[in-house]
Amino acid sequence: MRAFLGIDVGTSAVKVIALAESGEIVAAASEPLTLMQPAEGFSEQDPNEWWKQTGVAARAVVARCRARGLSIAAVGLSGQMHGLVALDRDRIGTPGDGGAVRPCILWNDQRSVVECDELERLAGGAGPLVEATGNAAFPGFTLPKLLWMRRHEPERYARIGMVLLPKDFVRWRLTGDFATDVGDACGTSLFDPAQRVWNEALVAAAGIQRGWLPTAFESGAPTGVVLPDVAAAWGLDAGTIVAAGSGDNMAGAVGAGVVSVGDCLIALGSSGVVLSPTAECRSDTGVAGHIGRTHTMCHADGDAKRRGSWCITGCTLSAGFALQWAHDSLWPESEYALLFAEANSSPAGCDGLVFLPQLMGERCPFRDPLARGAWIGLSARHTRGHLVRAILEGVTFTLCEILRIQRELGANPTTVRVGGGGARSPLWRQILADVTGLPVVTTNSEDGPALGAAMLGGVAAEVWPSVGAAAAEIIVETGRTEPAAKTGVENVYAAAQERLAAAQASLARLWRS
Ligand code: ADP
Repeated sequence: MRAFLGIDVGTSAVKVIALAESGEIVAAASEPLTLMQPAEGFSEQDPNEWWKQTGVAARAVVARCRARGLSIAAVGLSGQMHGLVALDRDRIGTPGDGGAVRPCILWNDQRSVVECDELERLAGGAGPLVEATGNAAFPGFTLPKLLWMRRHEPERYARIGMVLLPKDFVRWRLTGDFATDVGDACGTSLFDPAQRVWNEALVAAAGIQRGWLPTAFESGAPTGVVLPDVAAAWGLDAGTIVAAGSGDNMAGAVGAGVVSVGDCLIALGSSGVVLSPTAECRSDTGVAGHIGRTHTMCHADGDAKRRGSWCITGCTLSAGFALQWAHDSLWPESEYALLFAEANSSPAGCDGLVFLPQLMGERCPFRDPLARGAWIGLSARHTRGHLVRAILEGVTFTLCEILRIQRELGANPTTVRVGGGGARSPLWRQILADVTGLPVVTTNSEDGPALGAAMLGGVAAEVWPSVGAAAAEIIVETGRTEPAAKTGVENVYAAAQERLAAAQASLARLWRS
């Protein structure tokens, strides 16, 4: 039987799994990564550490596959998005040398705020930038960081010969090829999501050398084969295919089976992510005066034969984190199970109490780094159960607002697939179903982006005819929570949502004073 290796180059760890064609995860390994913060707001990693740790995890996984008589037919890649890996032009011919001109500047690095303004000017304004790239200017994105390098590190900048995203650095060392995928490329501010090609006009306007940008493939397409010396070191067959893969959000959606229009992924992790596939490329270019609240990316459902669709994503910064904060700082002695049980005993709408989850500022559904969290409407009647339930409701209202924006842009989900630690709570799933009005489905998928990457490997090896076919075969529904029958709960939630929006609007001024 064949298996596929899925590699996810994360921020805290690199994870490698092997997916058998039967759908079984036959082996998994994870190796930690070091985060460097050389200055306030700076966040960097050593690309060669990704490569080293990927090798350690991959060798362990491949050995276990071989012990079970499985051969690895393909490798798929996923990883943290937006990171800037700049390779030295004198060393790009020798992948074994790993020649980056500086450490990778990561997705969560904040140094390029000024360059974001510069980027907007280059594009002709915030609206035209979103029109051209599907996304507003964020310091985490690749191009602002490249502009920062040009201004602050001209000597290093002058040595650049190639610009890669994190997982594509691993690909280069694995295959010797310079390639990326259309989804991860959307996180650079240099890519045209509608046409699924590099945005030549913006590349020229920014003064970036076109030759620095790798070829962009659909996610399920092969981009090359493993180099002979790496195949020998990892225990792979010579000529093993490597699929384009995707950034972790899109690969994670594939790994949760969210590949078709009508699906939606809501991840209740530390942050909360809503991802909806769309049949057309639709960006937040100013509906109702708003620009760039959500991200538009090419989805990872394409392959060598067919172009994929798109997806709109939005990330609220404190989802599960808000609950974790309350647990850790207020009630560290109490089990989560007890907190959920108390919340379950409190009524929907929390007797007028609402919670604003912006404990770390906010990115989506509104962008405001100064926004702060609050419980609003406390009275002596309220218990701890109310406080906890208000957190679950407040986070859910925020996710639902992101979904509303996505619907405004043309997404039309009919079910929600839910993931992340918070999805373990039946109460949270019920609140999510009641507030969105959609059935909330749990799946057998626990390996997210690494699983999605392995599935894309299987598509590139033509074991599955399409990404959709792979998802239909591998991802199984394990539970379904239907929205409550019309009992009036929807009116209670609608009123609470309005109260939350009003509180947010009136407090925005306070956070600035
Ligand atoms: P991360 O995004 O950091 O990987 P996870 O997907 O692991 O996060 O989810 C972590 C979140 O899960 C915590 O912030 C917390 O809100 C929630 N959580 C922790 N324990 C439980 C539990 N027993 N039931 C439901 N949710 C939980």
